[in-house]
Amino acid sequence: MTNTIKEHCDVAIIGSGPAGLSAAITLQKSGIDNIIVIERDDEAGGTPRHCGHPPFGFKEYKQILTGPKYANKNVQRALKLGIEIQCKTTVTNLGEHGELSLATPEGLKTLVAKRVIIATGTRETPRSARFVSGDRALGIYNTGALQAMVYLKGKIPFKRPVIVGTEIVSFSALLTCRKAGIKPVAMIEANSKASVRWPIYYSHYLFSTKLLLNSKINKLIGKNRIEAVEIIDKTGQISTLDCDGVLFTGMFTPESSLVRMSHLAFDPETYSPTVDQQGRCSDPAYYAAGNLRQLPAEEGRNPLCYAKGQAPQAVNVSGFCWDQGREVAKNLLKDLE
Ligand SMILES: Cc1cc2nc3c(=O)[nH]c(=O)nc-3n(C[C@H](O)[C@H](O)[C@H](O)COP(=O)(O)OP(=O)(O)OC[C@H]3O[C@@H](n4cnc5c(N)ncnc54)[C@H](O)[C@@H]3O)c2cc1C
Repeated sequence: MTNTIKEHCDVAIIGSGPAGLSAAITLQKSGIDNIIVIERDDEAGGTPRHCGHPPFGFKEYKQILTGPKYANKNVQRALKLGIEIQCKTTVTNLGEHGELSLATPEGLKTLVAKRVIIATGTRETPRSARFVSGDRALGIYNTGALQAMVYLKGKIPFKRPVIVGTEIVSFSALLTCRKAGIKPVAMIEANSKASVRWPIYYSHYLFSTKLLLNSKINKLIGKNRIEAVEIIDKTGQISTLDCDGVLFTGMFTPESSLVRMSHLAFDPETYSPTVDQQGRCSDPAYYAAGNLRQLPAEEGRNPLCYAKGQAPQAVNVSGFCWDQGREVAKNLLKDLE
């Protein structure tokens, strides 16, 4: 395949989550009509598409919606304005002055945009990056993968998993399990208290799931499928817990691989592109918005998500990302003018 097709647009937006779509809608309403939103998934809407639970959209629509309904509202709003959303298309390279390489179902393309907004979100840290030893058995998931299976494919990957982590997303995983009839055996937290604040913290009681603090997974056991996990507590004592799956939750990291591979300045502390107050990257053709952009730990982010004194490590809520997408779009407009 050769890289022959070259297209042009005013603004290219990478990612169709709340940040990307709110930026696109703001720009379109302000008269920029040559916008392309690029999305690697089969359908647009971003992470909320996978989260079949509320609360989403109160800020934007004054309604409490489930993730898929909220995502659909955002997408319909964009489509009604005539915004082009190209799904099944992955941006594989960020070139200088807004030159993007795209992998599309029709082959490789180059898109040259006067300005680009990168809104690629975050992802949870997978097992491989957590250095957990043991077998490579079936039944190991992240919350995002579990939610995609349950809500988008109607499948149930396990019945008695162990949930690793106590961030807000870990409790979102608990809700998903409940919805699917899955009964988690335990939640495991390495620290002496849960990352999430009360009252969410107490919801594990509602689901009769025990919470093991000061504990870590030492080893995964099971040849074909997960059969048990070995747990080590802070005194070094090892115990075994029977289960049929492991759900690694949280420890979000910005989806910044594109930025790291590019010419754009990268902040190793936040794992995000370096931006100025306008959200502009080191190459002025590029901006960043949404969960991709993380604040340094001392500035904190969503105070609802953390117990006092703990480093922020979760995602911002969708309303925050929606607002940031709009703000960045406004800054970009001034810049284009
Ligand atoms: C399990 C879970 C539960 C949550 N629950 C809530 C909740 O109840 N309420 C709430 O308000 N918020 C919730 N959130 C947070 C909310 O989903 C995020 O705040 C919001 O989705 C972030 O928006 P975003 O636009 O920055 O990124 P995302 O929504 O993550 O969108 C990024 C998009 O970029 C695309 N993309 C990435 N790389 C590329 C590439 N190279 N090429 C093309 N496309 C690419 C991705 O496919 C994705 O669609 C939850 C998050 C999770 C993970």
